[in-house]
Amino acid sequence: MAKSSTVFFCNSCGYESPKWLGKCPACNEWNTFVEEKVVKDKGSGVSKVKKVQEAVSLNKISKTEINRIKSGFDELDRVLGRWIC
Ligand SMILES: [Zn+2]
Repeated sequence: MAKSSTVFFCNSCGYESPKWLGKCPACNEWNTFVEEKVVKDKGSGVSKVKKVQEAVSLNKISKTEINRIKSGFDELDRVLGRWIC
């Protein structure tokens, strides 16, 4: 009987956790965890069937948020831009 479950992997160092973590306890990176559905099957070991790029989508969301809060002041945007990048 194949049994599927969800685990989370750190994109940066490969640390595995049963829960999503904002910060990796192994390499101290933020938002590096990605969700993976794994099917545990007797004999064939663990086969990864689906990879959800959660860290990537979180980055996209925060970039959108940053664009939305542009102040309209060139000076301030330049300072914020430098701070973000
Ligand atoms: Zn890590």
